[in-house]
Amino acid sequence: MTIEQIINKVKENDPKADIELLKLAYDFANKAHGAQKRKTGEPYIQHSLHTAFVLAQIKADLNTVIAGILHDVPEDTERTLEDVKKKFGNEIGFLVEGITKLSKIKYRGVERYRESLRKMFLAMAKDLRVILIKFCDRLHNLRTLDALPEDKRLRIARETMEIYAPIAGILGIWRLKWQMEDICFKHLYPEEYKKLEYKYEVEKKVERNKYTQKVKNILGQKLKNENINFTIKGRFKHLYSIYKKIQKKERKFDEIYDVFALRVIVPTIQDCYKTLGIIHTLWKPKAGRIKDYIAVPKPNGYSSLHTTVFGPENKATEFQIRTKEMHEKSLYGIAAHWHYKQMGGSDIKQSKQPRWIQDILNIQREAKNTNEFIQKIKLDVFKDRIFIFSPRCDVFDLPEKSTPIDFAYAIHTEIGNKAIAALVNNIMVSLDQPLKNGDSVEIIIDKKRKGPNRDWLKFVKTHRAKEKINQATKASRLEQLKRIIPGI
Ligand code: MN
Repeated sequence: MTIEQIINKVKENDPKADIELLKLAYDFANKAHGAQKRKTGEPYIQHSLHTAFVLAQIKADLNTVIAGILHDVPEDTERTLEDVKKKFGNEIGFLVEGITKLSKIKYRGVERYRESLRKMFLAMAKDLRVILIKFCDRLHNLRTLDALPEDKRLRIARETMEIYAPIAGILGIWRLKWQMEDICFKHLYPEEYKKLEYKYEVEKKVERNKYTQKVKNILGQKLKNENINFTIKGRFKHLYSIYKKIQKKERKFDEIYDVFALRVIVPTIQDCYKTLGIIHTLWKPKAGRIKDYIAVPKPNGYSSLHTTVFGPENKATEFQIRTKEMHEKSLYGIAAHWHYKQMGGSDIKQSKQPRWIQDILNIQREAKNTNEFIQKIKLDVFKDRIFIFSPRCDVFDLPEKSTPIDFAYAIHTEIGNKAIAALVNNIMVSLDQPLKNGDSVEIIIDKKRKGPNRDWLKFVKTHRAKEKINQATKASRLEQLKRIIPGI
């Protein structure tokens, strides 16, 4: 990896970026790390460059890329954080400081998992970019994991799987999430990994490539006739996600291996719907598999059209149809949101994202400069939100003073409707007790329970809980009435 590669990537993202500053950072870090070597035998600066390159790949801004180059300077060289601040200013200094602090969080096994997660979230509250740098730093460490002794290797893989990958998912940075998961999977379950890799990559590969080529040709011709610009790609399935599906018994082996997956990228939203129409006139769609995540994006902001059709030779074939912007956002998540904001204009409805991401985007829009942006994020976004963990360590963000009932409805309507008690950090509490940031909450349900209590409306905080309680109680009162007065 060379500094030129990073310069090119940065220029691609923003032609006006201050390349001189980037070069200065490289010289500074290069001199500071001097003759230091990584365990792999490579010069240490290679690690800094790889970290910075992935940051540029996910379209992080220039200061973040620079902080990526400098991220190990205070910790591992004679140069101090003060030196970095003096030379590169407070903003870059702040990012490097964040990374240095974050590296002090040590993994102490699963029981400390939530604690670590909470610290990560607190670090995010200060500046999300610190987390982005940490992710890219971690990704390069994972890629060079083979150089480490086994116990260290497994510890890092486990920590990444339990802490880093889920947070990358919450932020919608799928590209990093999948890459991290597949590397960890390989180290943590080498046998299963090899088996899957062989089945998926060797046994089925030729067949898959031949088939996708055939579909591409047929669909490509039709799209050309309609004057729609397009790229069609066969989609690589991530081994760890296949493994998880098999584990959860969601699908059988062959069902997963034999599904062919393609992605079509077209210029506009209109083209997305046109393309969907064309696919459905070519091949019969499978019932219940058409998903319009453009009209109704997923909670993390993901948008695309999905459909599964019976393609040539009657084989189940999955399509994802999206614009280039949707595609980049699905890969780079929050990082791409910033990028598109900076470049102006966005074609994605932002209403369905988690509120705190929406807030971040709004602040980004209103802030005059990066400093103001960072300050506001600290004050506004995380001020009145709390993060609550489910027993399976899924994270939910809720308004401050939310209660176990709000949490129950955030998980699932039926969990809310049938809730009878709650354990907060393993202690039984009343259903109206306000939750605190970082609490882990388990809802106890009674399957026979008829429905929610209207009194809950007096204390719930979320719109969703109110709406669901109203709906359920209205329905049950109507039933009662029907029993009393038959025929209404
Ligand atoms: Mn590092």
